[in-house]
Amino acid sequence: MNLFKTFKQELKRKVTIMLIPHGKLKPVKLSVSLLLFCVFMVSWTGVTVWSGYLASRHIDYLKVKTDNKIMKVRLMLFATQLENTKNLIERLQNNDDKIRSLLALDTKKAIIEGDLAPQSYTGAGGPSLNQSNAFALVLSGKINKVNYTSLANQAVELNKKYEFMQKSYSEIMNNIKYQRAVFMATPRGWPAEGRVTSNFGFRFHPFFQSKDFHSGLDIANELNTPVYCTANGRVVFSGWQSGYGNIVVIDHGYGLRTAYGHLAKRLAKVGDYVERGKEIGKMGASGVATGTHVHYEVHYKGKAVNPMSYLKDNSLS
Ligand SMILES: [Zn+2]
Repeated sequence: MNLFKTFKQELKRKVTIMLIPHGKLKPVKLSVSLLLFCVFMVSWTGVTVWSGYLASRHIDYLKVKTDNKIMKVRLMLFATQLENTKNLIERLQNNDDKIRSLLALDTKKAIIEGDLAPQSYTGAGGPSLNQSNAFALVLSGKINKVNYTSLANQAVELNKKYEFMQKSYSEIMNNIKYQRAVFMATPRGWPAEGRVTSNFGFRFHPFFQSKDFHSGLDIANELNTPVYCTANGRVVFSGWQSGYGNIVVIDHGYGLRTAYGHLAKRLAKVGDYVERGKEIGKMGASGVATGTHVHYEVHYKGKAVNPMSYLKDNSLS
């Protein structure tokens, strides 16, 4: 208790503060109690600390505000890029559809029902590009209304679309390659100039005087009329065969073969790769033949088919 009393008395004690200005002004003398002096000092310190705190908070606020503006600009740039990518992919997809319908893909059914079907990626979750308007909101400055989840989903969606387009283009390119290969391997046009003297099918055999099956088409012309290969392929036989005389057989792949019989001269040997239009022999009457002609056969999957339909459409070569 004595200590407290002593402290109380000490606080009541007066202190003198002297302000001594430079120059001719008189010194100022202030006499205040120690208690008042202490209260003043504590208050002064408190005010100083508080104003410092307020100032730092204001600085933080300004910093966050500036950061937000920078983020907004970045987000707008990002959204613009996404929007451009979206438009580009949509244009590509339109082209893709056009190309597919132009090609009339054989695998169209497989494409529609297979892994590349549009449902397989639109059904994967997230909004479709048309449904969401997050890009538009960002671009129109209504950034506060943007649903960031939706924006992120759209970015994921674009990525999926891009991957789909890559697969799709690769499939289209493979299909073009395949169709081109089949086209080049399919017999087209006449193997020689001339007139058809005997059709494919049952006929009365001129030699044996009986009804037999004629497995090819006879085209007659003068001796040594050039005989051409009607599709790209490899020569698998070039020699003499009973009945056919000098004959050249070409394998075109994809189950297709052609044969050119009764030649006067063979100009291709086994193993040769020949392209459509290449001269492979001269027309003759070797083997069993009543006159100079080429006996032309087309085989599909090991079976002789009517070559007549392959003579047509010579425009595409
Ligand atoms: Zn014939």
